[in-house]
Amino acid sequence: MISVEEAFEFIEQRVGGLPQLDAEKIPLSASVGRVLSRAIVSDVDSPPHDKSVMDGFAVASRDIRDGVTDFRVLETIVAGTMPTQTISSGTTSRIMTGAPMPPGADAVVMVELSNIGYNAPTPDEVTLNWNGPVENFTAGKHAMNRAQNFAKNQIIFPAGHTIRAVDVGLLAEVGAANVDVSRMPSVAVLPTGDELVDCGLLPGDSQIRNSNGPMLKAICQNSGAEVVDLGIGADSVDDLTAKIKIGLDQDVLLLSGGVSAGTMDLVPGILKSLGVVQVFHKVKVKPGKPIFFGVLEPAASKPCLVFGLPGNPVSSLIGVHLFVSMALRIMTGQKSCRPVGRPAVLSAPHQTRGDRPTYWPGRWAKDPSAAPGAVEPLRWNGSSDLFSLGQAEGLILMAARKEPWAAGEQVFYFPF
Ligand code: AMP
Ligand code: MG
Repeated sequence: MISVEEAFEFIEQRVGGLPQLDAEKIPLSASVGRVLSRAIVSDVDSPPHDKSVMDGFAVASRDIRDGVTDFRVLETIVAGTMPTQTISSGTTSRIMTGAPMPPGADAVVMVELSNIGYNAPTPDEVTLNWNGPVENFTAGKHAMNRAQNFAKNQIIFPAGHTIRAVDVGLLAEVGAANVDVSRMPSVAVLPTGDELVDCGLLPGDSQIRNSNGPMLKAICQNSGAEVVDLGIGADSVDDLTAKIKIGLDQDVLLLSGGVSAGTMDLVPGILKSLGVVQVFHKVKVKPGKPIFFGVLEPAASKPCLVFGLPGNPVSSLIGVHLFVSMALRIMTGQKSCRPVGRPAVLSAPHQTRGDRPTYWPGRWAKDPSAAPGAVEPLRWNGSSDLFSLGQAEGLILMAARKEPWAAGEQVFYFPF
């Protein structure tokens, strides 16, 4: 059985070796969550001109250092206008936040330090009293230089960057009204099992609701995929074969259930009969061991990655978090694709042990007396127990070992 690290390597090799998804141009307003296929380069300087960052008076800083206090006011410069006068010794122009600095001025004295009120009309003469050692009033005070934030032709985001809501303002500033992004991978989702009923129905005596279908769809949509819902597959060769065939036309096929060692675990055999080449089956991880990964590479059409996830919902979830999301990131050209855990310490002793690394539902410790960076493992009954996932904010990775864990021991935390 391979380790999680080896599974990462297999996915990197196999998915990284496939042609990347095509690019498309989309409006900025629809771009959050999408991955840039081409770098964004600025077409402007930021700021576009030397500018004031205060409402006040633009001066030559030398004047203040020389002790000049009385100035003749040349004009008023508001944001959106250009100055028409040049500042020389003993002169100033009233200036508003964001307005271009006039030639000759290199600093701004706040209106609060003048003898006029905030909203008073601009006078012909003004007294400016810098409150502090005048040698501290240097060039650049309350002003910014042209291109101080970034310059025209500078790379703002590289290809492979995932656009976040917080990036949109910056993208607008550099004129990226449309952006080139990787096409969304299409992911077919097929939960399997005769015991499953749709979540809108009340299950009969031997039935349970299909949790995995909606969950896998949601996680994939959240990772920027386009989901194709194949309904629920019955534990029958005919039904599964028909549905899997449809799924294999997509970029990715996600199955849940039917991949382990029960009499109804038909999925690996059917995949093989349809030409899917197994890359791995079973990974040393708890929960989620029976996971299957394979690739179909038809001569005439695009390849399809196939993940067969174990049916227990938490096993499925962990398979998606560890392996499927990573494959989707590689397909869309993102840079660091492996899931990254942050070092953390356990807030409490913990009994889990065994020969497989365990991903346990947890969260940052809520107790104010907890150590900094402490994570709290939640009460959890194992791979069928989604209730603790509802309280969890992430997964705590505990290495394989014989001894139980003590409070304060180092673990890795993977926030959702
Ligand atoms: P399997 O991997 O098919 O052997 O299923 C393992 C366990 O997960 C069984 O208890 C199934 O009833 C349960 N299970 C399988 N698929 C789902 C699903 N879509 N939603 C909730 N539980 C499931
Ligand atoms: Mg089953």
